[in-house]
Amino acid sequence: MTPISILTTGAAEKKGVVSPQLLPDWAVLDADLTTGLPKHITAATGVDAMVHAIEAFISKHKKNPMSDALAKEALAHLGANIKTACFNGKDIDARQGMLYGSCLAGIAFANSPVAAVHALAYPIGGHFHVPHGLSNSLMLAHVIRFNKAHCGEMYAELAPLIAPGVNFKGSDQEITEVHRGPPLLTFLFLCISVLVGSCGIFRRSGLGIRPRDKIE
Ligand SMILES: [Zn+2]
Repeated sequence: MTPISILTTGAAEKKGVVSPQLLPDWAVLDADLTTGLPKHITAATGVDAMVHAIEAFISKHKKNPMSDALAKEALAHLGANIKTACFNGKDIDARQGMLYGSCLAGIAFANSPVAAVHALAYPIGGHFHVPHGLSNSLMLAHVIRFNKAHCGEMYAELAPLIAPGVNFKGSDQEITEVHRGPPLLTFLFLCISVLVGSCGIFRRSGLGIRPRDKIE
């Protein structure tokens, strides 16, 4: 779906190959092939696909109406299915929804590239050997917090797609105070924390990464 391949080079570095020749002629989206994927990998790869769509939508570089539409449709499928896919891995409809959403997100970011979450996640992944989706999930909330003054409303527009049906009533005041953003943006923060927490994704401390660790 994309002209991009990321490779680990040496002991602790990741580099990308970008070429139109990497674009596939065919892509097979067969949910039966994914039912054996463990929960934590389903969660991390699912969040990675969601980050692809989120960053394609937010990206200033090459943002366009077609990638916007693809990103939103991708998030609608990913947000609706990620929890079921994690907690009931044999649910073929949920698995198929994740594959389809991931495919759309790939096309979205092939036309409007990923940004700071991926850029910051690559060194974490390479240095600490953290899987890609997991390193993305560690960076997502921080990048949103950094970007929110410039594109908070765009993030907020995606929130209901990322976690459909999440009711943040009662927590709004508390989260608004923490993040000092508009209500819809605070909703997005809550969605992400609910998503990351409920899907069983590890936090930084659980991966052995300490606050003072440096990447040379
Ligand atoms: Zn990615």
